[in-house]
Amino acid sequence: MRLIMLGPPGAGKGTQGGMLARALQVPHIATGDIFRQAVKEATELGRRAKSYLEKGELVPDGIVVGIVLERLQKSDCEKGFILDGFPRTVQQAEALEGFLHQEGKELTGVILLDVDPEVLVERLTGRRVCRQCGATYHIRNMPPQREGRCDKCGGELYQREDDREETVRHRLQVHESQTRPLRDYYEKRGLLSVFAAARPIEEVFAAIMEQLGRGRQ
Ligand code: AMP
Repeated sequence: MRLIMLGPPGAGKGTQGGMLARALQVPHIATGDIFRQAVKEATELGRRAKSYLEKGELVPDGIVVGIVLERLQKSDCEKGFILDGFPRTVQQAEALEGFLHQEGKELTGVILLDVDPEVLVERLTGRRVCRQCGATYHIRNMPPQREGRCDKCGGELYQREDDREETVRHRLQVHESQTRPLRDYYEKRGLLSVFAAARPIEEVFAAIMEQLGRGRQ
């Protein structure tokens, strides 16, 4: 299955994308994670992406597209993939379409997670991430058992720089202007499925699996 997770920051693309990847046994490719890792390791890519991430701006298409297309050529993507956070602009979507066409492949579908913007601000500003393994928590909705520590690996939990309220509001605006047009783009191609995503995680996941024909029998 070749799936795209679409939706504003905080809609649950990472959470649902990770669960889907495990269930479908395909890689979960999250561009935000790739960039954060590169910044952490201070690689050439990290150096180029850092200021965009900090401000909540999009990394230029020319940088992002190359990284993703290279990743999609790895052998683990042969059985499919879940793209999370890519594409984010029409140009990125066109580049992906061109690449898949060349490979004689097609997207299976695009999963749009739809959530009210005010819920997103609450979700994002309360989000905490494990510095060690990347697991995510929420200070109210999904608190760790021990404050500030990851349940899975004991790593330190921190707030992403771009999850501070002012940057969150800016990221939501960037999403509105640059990424929202992708709804129409994929709707016209008959690929879009919309899911109300302000519901509990397991409920959203079950609805997606049902739509993919993988629901409980
Ligand atoms: P995310 O974790 O998906 O919210 O992404 C965090 C940040 O990484 C974004 O605010 C952008 O700065 C950058 N980023 C991630 N994916 C993309 C993309 N497809 N195009 C441009 N910038 C991206």
